[in-house]
Amino acid sequence: MAKFIFVTGGVVSSLGKGITAASIGRLLISRGLRIRMLKMDPYLNVDPGTMSPYQHGEVYVTDDGVETDLDLGHYERFTGQPTTRQSSVTSGRIYWDVLQKERRGDYLGHTIQMIPHITDEIKARIRALAEPDVDVVVAEIGGTVGDIEGLTFLEAIRQIGLEEGRDNVMYVHMTYLPYIRAAGEQKTKPSQQSVAKLREIGIVPDALVCRSERPLPEDVRRKLSLFCNVPFHAVIEELDVRNTIYEVPLVLAEQGLDEIIMVHFRLARPPARLAPWKAMVDSIVHPEGTVKIGVVGKYSELQDAYKSLHEALRHGGAAHRRSVQIVQISAEDMDSGNIPEELEQVAGILVPGGFGLRGTEGKIAAIRYARERGVPFFGICLGLQCAIVEFARDVCGLAGAHSTEMEAATPHPVVCLMAEQEKVIDLGGSMRLGAWPCVLKPGTVAFNAYGTERISERHRHRYEVNNGYRTRLEAKGLVLSGLSPDGHLVEMVEITSHPWFVAVQFHPELKSQPLAPHPLFREFIGAAIRHQGG
Ligand code: GLN
Repeated sequence: MAKFIFVTGGVVSSLGKGITAASIGRLLISRGLRIRMLKMDPYLNVDPGTMSPYQHGEVYVTDDGVETDLDLGHYERFTGQPTTRQSSVTSGRIYWDVLQKERRGDYLGHTIQMIPHITDEIKARIRALAEPDVDVVVAEIGGTVGDIEGLTFLEAIRQIGLEEGRDNVMYVHMTYLPYIRAAGEQKTKPSQQSVAKLREIGIVPDALVCRSERPLPEDVRRKLSLFCNVPFHAVIEELDVRNTIYEVPLVLAEQGLDEIIMVHFRLARPPARLAPWKAMVDSIVHPEGTVKIGVVGKYSELQDAYKSLHEALRHGGAAHRRSVQIVQISAEDMDSGNIPEELEQVAGILVPGGFGLRGTEGKIAAIRYARERGVPFFGICLGLQCAIVEFARDVCGLAGAHSTEMEAATPHPVVCLMAEQEKVIDLGGSMRLGAWPCVLKPGTVAFNAYGTERISERHRHRYEVNNGYRTRLEAKGLVLSGLSPDGHLVEMVEITSHPWFVAVQFHPELKSQPLAPHPLFREFIGAAIRHQGG
């Protein structure tokens, strides 16, 4: 029978609950347990697919083609396990399903209520993960305790505690301890109040993870323990980690959180096997040099819009014991007559995915610069589409070539919607999402990076390379190094005469993990290191 760990958060949002939940997942795996992760988001959007990445952070896509919250990216990177459709649920999705059942008459005329109908639906979603091959389900509740939207989730997890028995359910609450400089003190009151709020609902946390700028003095721990009703040794400190988020599992393990969980669940397991994880952290914390990579995209203050991409670059760097300095270059201020100095100083140029016209000419200019100067270039999704446009215009001489997403009436629609796709969009359907197989051409950079012919990568796009232009592109030296198994879709291109010029229609960054850096990121960083002369 599976056990459950529920991770809640109090005081403020953005505490890094997702990273903490993912770290707990890593610790459990390192003790030989089989786990599943779940993120429950109290907002009313049915899924995060249509939410602005500049507001909410990146949209993460699973193998089975669901657009989800970026925390699922942390789960995959920390645990090394793929997430699925089942790993993410929002209030919007729950209400949607309950209302549909009501319309179908499934409730036989009963009054539909938050409790039990919404809470039952939530419980069913949580329990769906507790399959026979799962030892522990780790479920994170988004938002902050006290939010109105979150109440039904808290009620649902309280009920699970009763139904499964308290030995089988553990509540981990994450809080924040503000440091008041003038008083020279860390304040526990907000934490006490958020725990009080939880207890009002009937949840007593078993462990408190305290995010803090400074170490917790013993008296502060005692106070938290006593007033929050949490055993002293289960008051865990999570300092703002200095070097890398991948230190968090080690920080929690040092304070015995994995052992606290084993004791709570009465599980006898060998000690945590964290050696590979420690070695990986060590290669990030003690690099042997730096490499500067320019990422040419749309930027706002919110870093999270390119979360997986930045992580994948760091993984690629760690594979060479290099720290990657990411230089964000705004595509909007650039064109071929105006190449910013920052672009000239990087050892590799990456153009990531994106939607819409804004900044496209800047991205194309950056790609031209990379192609002509022999600077390692990596194009992802829209980055591939821009590379096709650039190559068509500047190498094949197809003036005015463009993607029909940007310019419907272009004389050379080198990137366009597939005929089948066009019909789907009329029906309100949407993108090519999730994992698709791809066949690599032996002898190419792509093939050598992966070391295999058949791969699977995740997609999130509508537009494709126009097959009508394939021969013209190939005649000028563009190699179509990866195709869909039926040969109909161009998934990867490269330029053999260039030191490293690879573009892909999928999102490899979604599958890169710190313990298994993605081969394309590894090779791209390798090429950048060669470019800068070691
Ligand atoms: N906007 C492009 C498309 O829909 C690229 C999408 C992306 O980069 N994720 O095809």
